[in-house]
This record gives sequence, structure tokens and C-alpha cells, in this order.
Amino acid sequence: MHDEYGILKASIPEPRCALNFTTPFQLLVATVLSAQTTDVRVNSVTPELFDSYGTPEKLSEARIETVESIIHPVGFYHAKASHIITLSNQIVDDFAGEVPANMRDLTTLAGVGRKTANVVLGNAFGIPGFPVDTHVIRVTGRLRWRTDWRKANPDPVHIENEICGYFEPKEWTNLSHRLILFGRSTCHARKPACADCPLRATCPSAESI
Ligand code: SF4
Repeated sequence: MHDEYGILKASIPEPRCALNFTTPFQLLVATVLSAQTTDVRVNSVTPELFDSYGTPEKLSEARIETVESIIHPVGFYHAKASHIITLSNQIVDDFAGEVPANMRDLTTLAGVGRKTANVVLGNAFGIPGFPVDTHVIRVTGRLRWRTDWRKANPDPVHIENEICGYFEPKEWTNLSHRLILFGRSTCHARKPACADCPLRATCPSAESI
């Protein structure tokens, strides 16, 4: 596992969050918007959104119809608009206008689960976090980095706890970035590019998919 991660580190030396943001609040909103869509699509709507509603105070007072029209391209726009307005109100009312920098408080916000909270902790606050998304689940399963790799629907929290146990906390955020980028570029869901994969020599799933 650690040798394979060393190869991933060499092939993806400087991973970074693909969502554009300038404050923890903006990353939180962008991450909520990123569910079921691409980061590119989120980045296409956030400049206009943050131009008018870039703080919890401003977004908490926005009309939902206005927000819906701005974020329409990201899909699920009604639920997402409701979530980001509600979480803005929560931040203003419960956290004095500041995004909380801990898992417990972040996950009290509307539309925020552990994955979103870990993205914000790791990328906005520099607090180790390991977001588990569909790419992380797939790649860690194919590489047999986790014991429940046979499960069709493994528990993301279990995966987070198991994988984090194998690595130093300072690696967690970039480890997740690298697995996501690697899943997007090479270890695709339908047709993984095993012939070009740098982990081909040790991967138990190479060419068997
Ligand atoms: S060898 Fe294939 S299945 Fe294994 S990690 Fe690489 S792309 Fe994924």
C-alpha cells in the first residue's frame, strides 16, 4: 500500500482542490454545490454567486429564486439553493458568522455530511481530513487497501477510519486528492486504463475488470 502510494505521489506531485474559493465559507458552499456534478460546472457558477452572495450574511438574506437561477447549471438546484441559504443562516445564528473548523459543528449544517466537512477541514483550515467519494471507494477497493473491498455498498465512514489508520494525518488530505484525481484520470469506473497505469505491477485488479 505505501509503495503504491509512493508511486501515486510521484505521478501526482502537487494535488490541489479543483474547486475555486477564497474563504472557508466559499469552499463550503462550492462543495455542497458539487454533489452529483463536476467541479468545472461548479466553478462556472460560483463567480456570479460569490459576487453577490459571498458571505454567510449576504447569502442568508438571498431570495431562493435568485439563487436557484444562478446555480441552475449544477443540477438539483432547488435542494442545493435551500441548503446553502439555510447553512448560511445557521452560520450567522449559531457560529457568529464564522464557518466552524471542526467535524461535529460542520455536520450540523444543512446539506453537510462527513465528506463535505472533510473537504473544508483539509483545504480551508489545514486540518487533516480524508473525504471519501466514489473514486476513493473504487480505487481503494481495486487496490485492496481496505478489508471490505468485496462489499458492493461499503460504508464510507468505515473506509475513512480504516484508510486513515494506515497513514499519517498529514497525508490524509492529499491522499484523498490523489485517489480522486487518479480515479478520474486512470482507474475509471467502466474501463480502467490498466495498460497505462503506474500501479499495474502490484494491483490485484489489473486487467481483470
Ligand atoms: S491497474 Fe487498473 S484497476 Fe488497478 S489501479 Fe490501475 S487502472 Fe485501476
